[in-house]
Amino acid sequence: MAAFTETICPGVTFTVEADHMLYAGRTDFQTVHVFEHNTLGRVLALDNVVQTTELDEFVYHEMLTHTPVFAHGSVRTALIIGGGDGGIARELLRHPVDRVVMVEIDGEVVSLCRKHLPSLSNGAFDDPRLDLIIGDGAKFVENSDETFDVVIIDSTDPIGPGKVLFETPFLTACRERLSPGGILVNQNGTPAFMPWAMKQSASHFARVFPQYGFFYAPVPTYVSGVMALGWASEDHNLANVNLDAITTRFEGVGLSMQWYSPEVHAGAFAQPPVLASLARSVAPT
Ligand code: SAM
Repeated sequence: MAAFTETICPGVTFTVEADHMLYAGRTDFQTVHVFEHNTLGRVLALDNVVQTTELDEFVYHEMLTHTPVFAHGSVRTALIIGGGDGGIARELLRHPVDRVVMVEIDGEVVSLCRKHLPSLSNGAFDDPRLDLIIGDGAKFVENSDETFDVVIIDSTDPIGPGKVLFETPFLTACRERLSPGGILVNQNGTPAFMPWAMKQSASHFARVFPQYGFFYAPVPTYVSGVMALGWASEDHNLANVNLDAITTRFEGVGLSMQWYSPEVHAGAFAQPPVLASLARSVAPT
């Protein structure tokens, strides 16, 4: 047995008595743990923060991928920033897309997940439509001249290498990478314990995009309730869900899901008052 402990906030921890520790080490960017628990399945943690578990990774990966894809309606090209475990790439490549570019700063996370968490990518890394670039996502969007129908920022939290991915210069560069009608989404942690992440995203989104907001997904592993997922676009208001259109698109591709459905998509945009007020507040910059 090996205990893994994440500090959720001062005085609040999440401890797993792992059945076995498959990997524990440090890359050039972060500490990595991969371990197995009989209920959670295999777990990836970076810098002692649980990133994903086999138990419920599909909630996060389906909601962060299919919500913008079905809202857009005709995604052919996509950009993933981060996503080292391959879960987003897996879900995107289930659609009839032409090209997915994935920019992950830490190649060792990809290698370790391919080896110890193969169910997450499920062959995505071998799909010829995927262009995997090992590098800083912020530099990529700054230097690239390619455009994408969706940009999915599947990063660590706004600390460490992920911090730049929540700030105005990066989001401004991402806006230039969106094709007309393009949609950007990102993860903002769990507002119960990290309300500052939603507030920070709201204040940066407001400076860069005319349309932005949040939708929510319950990922049991992320202790403390719902996870806030951010969206932003020049021309789409994702909060105005056209359920008939989403349903027609969903039925058109005929993908089996474990969490996402058109009804779950629509419900994810319901704004509990306490979260709506977070989204409206101006974050400390
Ligand atoms: N998909 C998981 C989940 O369910 O939340 C977690 C996301 S994934 C493991 C987060 C990835 O973001 C990590 O692999 C990390 O190396 C990567 N990352 C952090 N900062 C980055 C940056 N500036 N550019 C590219 N990738 C970055």
